[in-house]
Amino acid sequence: MIHAISVRTKPGVDFQDITEEVQEAVSAGGVESGMCFVFVPHTTAAITLNENADPAVLEDIAARLEAAAPLRGQYRHSEGNGPAHVKASLVGNCVMLLVDRRRLVLGTWQGVFLCEFDGPRERKVLVKVMADAEEKK
Ligand code: ZN
Repeated sequence: MIHAISVRTKPGVDFQDITEEVQEAVSAGGVESGMCFVFVPHTTAAITLNENADPAVLEDIAARLEAAAPLRGQYRHSEGNGPAHVKASLVGNCVMLLVDRRRLVLGTWQGVFLCEFDGPRERKVLVKVMADAEEKK
């Protein structure tokens, strides 16, 4: 089963902490131990795992991505959101997480973030939880 999470994003570049929503999907899935695949089915949004304590970390990431793919630059893509596509590819569209005792296994300061590069939008994040081979028997 694939669990879908809806996320409303803010204008421009925005990071939404979806750790709790992903954890709820893991808890609902009933898998004791295994893997959790988090995927964003969009071309101008991404998924990352990073610090959820100091918001300045996300500001630094946003600033560096802006330097790599500035809003005002030359892009061939005619839709006008070329920089958002580039930023999404730089970050990536999925993360794989460990699950133990129906909980995500995360570092103390880690959170799962939906990265919006062309907001505001209503985004979808898909979560698939897979049990260990021995649990399936
Ligand atoms: Zn586009």
